[in-house]
Amino acid sequence: MTLKKPLLEFNFSTELLTWFDINGRKNLPWQQEKSPYRVWLSEIMLQQTQVITVIPYFEAFISRFPTVENLAAAPLDDVLKHWAGLGYYARARNLHKAAQAIVERGYFPNTLPELLELSGIGKSTAGAILSIAFKKSQPILDGNVKRVLTRFYAISGWTGAREIENQLWEISEKITPIERCDDYTQAIMDLGATLCTRSKPRCVDCPMARACKAFLTSTVSNYPAKKTTKKLPIKHIFFLIVQNENQEIWLEQRPTNGIWGGLWSLPEVENSEAAQHWCHAQNLKIQHQQILSSQRHTFSHYHLDFTPMVIHVEAIGNENFHTRQQWQNRALPAPINIILTDRAELPIHRR
Ligand code: SF4
Repeated sequence: MTLKKPLLEFNFSTELLTWFDINGRKNLPWQQEKSPYRVWLSEIMLQQTQVITVIPYFEAFISRFPTVENLAAAPLDDVLKHWAGLGYYARARNLHKAAQAIVERGYFPNTLPELLELSGIGKSTAGAILSIAFKKSQPILDGNVKRVLTRFYAISGWTGAREIENQLWEISEKITPIERCDDYTQAIMDLGATLCTRSKPRCVDCPMARACKAFLTSTVSNYPAKKTTKKLPIKHIFFLIVQNENQEIWLEQRPTNGIWGGLWSLPEVENSEAAQHWCHAQNLKIQHQQILSSQRHTFSHYHLDFTPMVIHVEAIGNENFHTRQQWQNRALPAPINIILTDRAELPIHRR
């Protein structure tokens, strides 16, 4: 891509770094005692999740797993428990797997090809680790950067399209400086997160405004272009809250691949008739049952409409039955945690 005047005369990284020196965020927990492990962990947590949400999770996680060796040695269940609530659990499983690969390797990888070999690390995350932790100039292209660049250069087209993405990578590579690449990487992420925000960009306070094509043509709201949205499919299921006379709840660990992989969840069936078959297959004798109101949980690719069904059964010894204290110590998907916590707070006579 050929950059035309006046953009060539405007030094993107110099302007950005001058702004960053005064306005950039420098007190985030992962910016203290900086290490490749802490930078990597923060980058993974910050994918799909805002800084304000990530901070307490990062602090709890780093205090439980202070080093990559601690993380590699921990049971996956423990890692998932410390991730519960952040969503996108594949990130936690990949972190755990990659930590084991790093420990096996004997050092934290510091080149692009080596980082890309690790589970869950793509080109942008690798770029952030190399720039911020190792001070090696490497471009990044996360959601914030895509937004800044599409606006600054007025690039039309959906950023997920291969052609547009390649164009953005090319630009990102051109404007990432050799000197102070760590500050620059942090600065462009900060600009996207604090000024060039998705819904209300603060162009009047922005150091890039005098050369920003979208701002100068009053077309900021056109960028980044939206993907033509597809209607999400809806999946309907019943979650069974199978409770015995000791108020214990049946939980099952989900397979490691797929939605909520490796987390503990309620049994799920297609309809209320299937619930009877399920109990029969587990040798559980139903005393009474109750269907609760349906709720919706939306994943990126479908809506999950689920109906909780409470089934009281006779007490039997089975390791799937969990006391309240036991299920509170399990890694549960957020909607399951809400269902169980809501029920646990009801007085017993109302159940
Ligand atoms: S001027 Fe506005 S649109 Fe352009 S980079 Fe700054 S905040 Fe974003």
